[in-house]
Amino acid sequence: MIFTEDKYVKLSDQLPLDTPFTLMIDPTNVCNFKCTFCPTGDESLLKRAGRPIGKMDFPLFCKIIEDLREFPRKVRSLRLFKDGEPFVNRDLIKMIAFAKQKDVADEVYIISNASLIRKEIADGILDSRLDRLRISVEHVTPEKYKALTKTYEDYRRIVENVRYLYEEKTRRSHHLHINAKIVDTGLSSIELEKFRNDFGPISDELTIESLMGWSSTFDKDMTLGSKPRTGIDGRTRIAEIEVCPEPFKGLAINFDGTVSVCCVDWSHGTLVGDTRQERLVDIWNGPRLHAFRMFHLQKERKKIPACANCQYLKGHKDMSRLDDMAAELLERFTQININEVMNHGITV
Ligand code: SF4
Repeated sequence: MIFTEDKYVKLSDQLPLDTPFTLMIDPTNVCNFKCTFCPTGDESLLKRAGRPIGKMDFPLFCKIIEDLREFPRKVRSLRLFKDGEPFVNRDLIKMIAFAKQKDVADEVYIISNASLIRKEIADGILDSRLDRLRISVEHVTPEKYKALTKTYEDYRRIVENVRYLYEEKTRRSHHLHINAKIVDTGLSSIELEKFRNDFGPISDELTIESLMGWSSTFDKDMTLGSKPRTGIDGRTRIAEIEVCPEPFKGLAINFDGTVSVCCVDWSHGTLVGDTRQERLVDIWNGPRLHAFRMFHLQKERKKIPACANCQYLKGHKDMSRLDDMAAELLERFTQININEVMNHGITV
């Protein structure tokens, strides 16, 4: 089954969740690109935030997957990416295969820039039974690729890598869903047409995304001055939201095993646990994430530096928004007995 966020039921009706909807695990926060709209490509930002650099060890990954089995149900989407290019970690294929074998999620999903998906990796992706792959196409010419990524210009290589994977998965009648997406960084109609012509025949779905902001990037504008009027999907209206849905629906595990509240926490500024020391189920039901949720429900998120000027927050879909239900949710979450939760799971 391919799960998309459009299929969410109204989030507020489901809370509190006994199992996260989504779990993100970052195989590495290293990237071979340095894109101008991404904090990972900005050394001065990383230095200022003091973010560590590295790759996840396979034994830690296995521990996290075993932890996942302690939840009452499977997560809907297990996402093996966050701050870096996932295929920089050479254990990634092994990780996908392990997660699939343990059957902990409705789908295993990866976003990649496709530069490293040569034939051998592509075959490994198919053998590992990955469910969904989103290709981040950065531009449609070598010159523009280089201007945006700073490090890479082999556009034809990207197209050829995706072509081989698509043709091979078609030949094998493999269920992998390939979505090619491009971020609209001011693309002309001719450039958009080229994207459609080049990737339409070798993908199952094409997407054009809007530039988005991140969790607080201090005073730096990562939207390249575009002043977004929609969320990342290019459709959802931007709104001044107080209660972020992210702490209520998922978790994002960094390469070193620390646990962030959300996918855009590039600076590791929302840490609520550490999977090297704790069970995932205890982090999900535990006091630090509970306190984080309460800050949001009490409309005091600005006291959390990473959330204070978060741009991503503003683009959440209507079905996920919680502001109108904040008082009722505050009541519901206030009744949670954290000690009981730590021992037995959520009771309200
Ligand atoms: S406000 Fe931003 S940084 Fe804070 S939890 Fe939400 S998405 Fe993450």
